[in-house]
Amino acid sequence: CGTTSLLPMTPKKPQQWLQVVGHAGSFHVGDYGTLLKRFCEGEQQCYLRLMEDTLRPFVPAYHGVVQRDEQDYNMMDNLLTHFNTPAIMDCKMGSRTYLERELLLARERPQPRNDMYEKMVAVDPEAPTVQERAQQAVLKTRYMQWRETLSSTTSLGFRIEGFKKSNEECHTNFKRTKSREQVMTAFTNFVESNTHIVWGYLRRLKELRQVLEESVFFRTHEVVGSSLLFLHDWKGRTGVWMIDFGKTAVLPAHLTLDHRTPWVEGNREDGYLWGLDNLIDILSNMLPL
Ligand code: ATP
Ligand code: MG
Ligand code: MG
Repeated sequence: CGTTSLLPMTPKKPQQWLQVVGHAGSFHVGDYGTLLKRFCEGEQQCYLRLMEDTLRPFVPAYHGVVQRDEQDYNMMDNLLTHFNTPAIMDCKMGSRTYLERELLLARERPQPRNDMYEKMVAVDPEAPTVQERAQQAVLKTRYMQWRETLSSTTSLGFRIEGFKKSNEECHTNFKRTKSREQVMTAFTNFVESNTHIVWGYLRRLKELRQVLEESVFFRTHEVVGSSLLFLHDWKGRTGVWMIDFGKTAVLPAHLTLDHRTPWVEGNREDGYLWGLDNLIDILSNMLPL
């Protein structure tokens, strides 16, 4: 399994980094094997708490805030550092990818969005209602909920956002990858049918599950829009880390989540562990009996 300790790096070594998905332009490669992500206070607070939590070995090490060209960045380990031109996959975890807070806001101030209408039509011209068609716009909440039923987010509690094999282009066309079979096909392609790699990922995911079940951080946060980043290389090295806490929200003091109970509005459950159970199950089925 991959190591998470920040090993001293030689400053001369050229840093490799590329991003599979996410907002382009939010990142810079930093010195000494670090990565700079555009500052977000919520994400900073999460990383600070995570550095004190049992989950620490499962997230990139956090190194504080730095400034570049007047812009603040959160500095963290570049997880690619210890791999040789790795294959990379981003899996967005959870049975929904918007916060309850976003749902409330969108309802208070409904904003019809033309860009989301266009995205919807591009995937499925039949999807908009008569009214949406007349307006050439959909509400953000409607768009998000629609999208989640297309992919495996609602049905399996995670979705593949994209992957890149060692020397290939990024594949990001998984918006309609929904069934177990489709997910398994995508994973098989990603690992190029290498069962050793699947073993490595499974071992790491099971360790992660154990730690998540005990973690104070995890119990006390609504973890939405966060991903598992899968990395492997031709040497057979594998690793999985949790990334992207931009939408992870701390819960009120009296409330904790088990991350498996189905979501109903108000209970804040995110389906993260349920999704991880499904992911582990699917990967297990890729191995010979
Ligand atoms: P979005 O909210 O749209 O998912 P984002 O702007 O919040 O995107 P992230 O999801 O944090 O960005 O990261 C985008 C991509 O950048 C990931 O899929 C991964 O490929 C890469 N990445 C992010 N953090 C790291 C890291 N610490 N080490 C290596 N690669 C990373
Ligand atoms: Mg992300
Ligand atoms: Mg994000």
